[in-house]
Amino acid sequence: MTKEGPQELAVGSYTVEVIRCRDLSSTVRSFELRFIDLDCFEFEPGQSIAIEFTLEGSQYIRPYSIASPPRRNNTLEICARYNPGGPGTRFLWALKPGTRFTITGPQGSFLLQSSRIRDCIFIAAGTGIAPLRSMLYAVLEREEEPHVTLLFGVRDQADCLYDEEFVALARRNKNFSYRTVLSRPSNGWAGLRGYVQHHVEDAVNNRTALDVYVSGMTEMVEEIRQMLLGLGLDESSIHYEKFS
Ligand SMILES: Cc1cc2nc3c(=O)[nH]c(=O)nc-3n(C[C@H](O)[C@H](O)[C@H](O)COP(=O)(O)OP(=O)(O)OC[C@H]3O[C@@H](n4cnc5c(N)ncnc54)[C@H](O)[C@@H]3O)c2cc1C
Repeated sequence: MTKEGPQELAVGSYTVEVIRCRDLSSTVRSFELRFIDLDCFEFEPGQSIAIEFTLEGSQYIRPYSIASPPRRNNTLEICARYNPGGPGTRFLWALKPGTRFTITGPQGSFLLQSSRIRDCIFIAAGTGIAPLRSMLYAVLEREEEPHVTLLFGVRDQADCLYDEEFVALARRNKNFSYRTVLSRPSNGWAGLRGYVQHHVEDAVNNRTALDVYVSGMTEMVEEIRQMLLGLGLDESSIHYEKFS
């Protein structure tokens, strides 16, 4: 079957309605949205939408990665970090189920490699997990069953977004390893410590024939990109999304 590429997907402006707002941690909230005039919103895992809004007379546009996998229906999920005073944060945190607003999308070229199926490593910090969560489901559906490692960095146990879900996915899929890295774990943490950067070399494990997907704030993404190049990975094997 030919896979539909992002270039075929219609980028448009749509009205969405909030179905559910859910706190994933003390600083991250997820928003489930439903398209009002669409039966199916087509996008590629890794892509984002942009919300457009007006606050106190000024217009803003803020992009958010789609955190849900394509469901072949008219819903999607985004998750956002609370940034005190930020216009995007103020807009999102005022949303309630039933509120309608405008988004544009899908957009972005942070996409899974479809021309070659190889082992892959997903590396995220904080809300950088959003596009990788969407990609993860797509990769785990591949018949070839490439090995997938998710290296996810957060501050402490309470910040492990989608943790139960990833643990369950790792139980169900022998080709998926889930590793959380905590920078400030509370008592009793027996897992990895520090920042994701400290565990990249271990995850790569001397392999060069693999695709690595990195998502998060610019500094972290850039640092990891340089590390991967230093470990012998080709530029074309490193895919990334920078949030700022
Ligand atoms: C392609 C793309 C995808 C994005 N996807 C997401 C997403 O899925 N979830 C999300 O929360 N944000 C995401 N962002 C960032 C988002 O668009 C906003 O920049 C963010 O929500 C802050 O907006 P604001 O108006 O509240 O604050 P602003 O006043 O515009 O930003 C204030 C500061 O917050 C920092 N910042 C921005 N995003 C984050 C973050 N996620 N974590 C920590 N610090 C941050 C910025 O560097 C800036 O210094 C994405 C950005 C891009 C370019």
